[in-house]
Amino acid sequence: MIGALGIAGVAFVLTGTSWSDVVDQPLLGSAVFLAVAAIFGEVKPIRLIREGGEERTLSTSAPFILALLAVSGVGAAVLVQVIASLLDDILHRRPWQKSLFNISQYALSVVAAGAVYTWLAGIPFLGVSTIGPGDSIGALLVAGTAMVAVNWFLVAGVVSLATSQPLSLALREESWHAFVTHIVLLTIGGIAADVAADGVATLALLVPPVIAAHLFTASAARHAHDATHDSLTGLGNRGHLYYQLEHAFDSSGPVRLGGPGLVLVDLDHFKDFNDTLGHPVGDEILRQVGARLLEIAPEGASVHRLGGDEFAVVVRGDLAQTRQVARDVLASLDAPVHVESLELLVRASAGVAVAPLHGDDGETLMKNADIALYHAKLERDRISTFSQEFDINTVERLRLLADLRTALDTGELHVVYQPQYDLTDGRAVAVEALVRWRHPERGPVRADEFIPLAENSGLIFPVTAFVLETALAQLARWHASGRNLRMSVNLSARHLSDQGLPQQVAAALTRHGVPASSLVLEVTETAILSDPARADLVLHALRRLGVSIAIDDYGTGNASLSYLRRLEIDELKIDRSFVSNIGADHHDLIIVRSTIALALALDLRVVAEGIEDAETVTALRGLGHVIGQGYHLGRPVEASALDRVFGTEQGVATAESGEPTTGPIRSV
Ligand code: C2E
Ligand code: MG
Ligand code: MG
Repeated sequence: MIGALGIAGVAFVLTGTSWSDVVDQPLLGSAVFLAVAAIFGEVKPIRLIREGGEERTLSTSAPFILALLAVSGVGAAVLVQVIASLLDDILHRRPWQKSLFNISQYALSVVAAGAVYTWLAGIPFLGVSTIGPGDSIGALLVAGTAMVAVNWFLVAGVVSLATSQPLSLALREESWHAFVTHIVLLTIGGIAADVAADGVATLALLVPPVIAAHLFTASAARHAHDATHDSLTGLGNRGHLYYQLEHAFDSSGPVRLGGPGLVLVDLDHFKDFNDTLGHPVGDEILRQVGARLLEIAPEGASVHRLGGDEFAVVVRGDLAQTRQVARDVLASLDAPVHVESLELLVRASAGVAVAPLHGDDGETLMKNADIALYHAKLERDRISTFSQEFDINTVERLRLLADLRTALDTGELHVVYQPQYDLTDGRAVAVEALVRWRHPERGPVRADEFIPLAENSGLIFPVTAFVLETALAQLARWHASGRNLRMSVNLSARHLSDQGLPQQVAAALTRHGVPASSLVLEVTETAILSDPARADLVLHALRRLGVSIAIDDYGTGNASLSYLRRLEIDELKIDRSFVSNIGADHHDLIIVRSTIALALALDLRVVAEGIEDAETVTALRGLGHVIGQGYHLGRPVEASALDRVFGTEQGVATAESGEPTTGPIRSV
């Protein structure tokens, strides 16, 4: 609508103007000067930084257009305004719809100013002024105010329509502050109009103050920008984020349709990049990630770096729109990041919180998006939207994680051993080391509860080092007492990308004087598949030491046996979910039978996990040469308890605290 009105206005004024009068007037030199100044003011606006670091530009064309209005009439003023606006839009490659709106609203403002001025000065609307501008400075300033006001209302009206905000709010958004600044600028227009009669030389005296204003505001803007932005990526910093959030809350008004939304993004294992490739590479990754986020951020969103590898996007939208932004963020990282000759795959997790569902102010939204992010990391969900129930859960886990850190130093962790028996002759052939945590307040904490926490936080490295150290020391004692057992130790996925692991294992073996052939390292299929190329390298190096590799929980992942065979493994541990049921479930029996047959044919050692009764032992015995592990044969217990069982090869061991006590632990 504004577009049509604007075009009509421009057409009416331009066709109605007598251009020969415009060209023939005595002040043509001054008019050209004013036109050039107006165009320059439009394409080179003053940069202003508002509170909170938001950047605004202020065009200085208005005073010169106003002066031109007085000197050469409405037609010339509209024409120059249209040219200036068009040029600026072309330079900024604005879409044509936006450009059309810009031209129309400026033209309508100038037409309004022209109407007010000519009416107050008592001259014809389309004529070229015959009375000196100096005589009607008052009328000109009133006209200028009308120009700024019309402009202000048109922009606010369109913003209000586009965002469904009430007009009053949009008017406030469009900044009262900018309105006042414009009015002040208009006085320059008054002066320009007044001195135009004295010629170009006098008008040129206005140039230095305008340039000074440009330079001064540019330097102030630079300082303000530095204080609110991150120097590495150029994105807004944490302070800026809080400001943007509060601002987004204010401008969403009393009718809250949903929003603003907040997406917090954290890069996965960024520390590894930094540690292995150096900080310059780390910095470059952050820069590129920042640039990608900026690229996908929708209109109205703001992107921030909160320090380290954490980024945030404030979205002016509801839950669905915010989640879409989170998906776009992660998708933007699908393509590898190129640094020097490296191609790096950067992955990230995101936490989402949206007002009013997840908080009514910036601080709550921030806290809840953080909890959602933490949840995403823990659950490997990649994107998590805040939910009330995370809260308790997550805080609880955070606390547990903090406790685990101290547990490592205070000796609350210890290792228990679960025996494995050769089902054909009943000999104890191996033990599996399983870590336990005796929490000073909670009592025993299950491995399933804290191992995933440790894996996500990097604490798994010291945990595994502790288990390996303790288990090998125990194995050395068993070997010294003539008990020739193998020792199985569990590894996590993250160890499989740790190139230092083989060396660490070799050193531990030497320290305890146990042969590599008696150490079995257990990994899961999923762990291998999460980064097969690196896992391949690490597993190969471990096997070269003479250590055996076992696939734990076999059957729960989706690796094919032939694939695993290619990885050179030594042992297959069939998951207890198949084994414990073979007496009752015919399908499970078929799966277990064929897996055993295939594994034996591939020359692998087979361990059946989760044997809970005598019938399972009998059934397994008929399927080939199998090693058994499970509650029926022996629960995980302290080394001393196992000593007693081994001593008699019969009897009842005291189950460790936390494991339910069951029947006999016996040889088979
Ligand atoms: P896993 O390696 O498959 O260990 C076997 C788990 O099954 C142990 O649970 C054991 O107590 C349990 N189990 C043994 N026999 C039976 C049975 O007959 N029936 C049933 N229902 N369960 C049985 P735990 O010790 O709670 O360990 C759970 C998981 O935690 C382990 O699964 C392993 O993945 C992980 N884990 C334990 N210790 C460590 C460790 O030191 N390092 C690492 N990275 N992971 C560990
Ligand atoms: Mg295991
Ligand atoms: Mg297992």
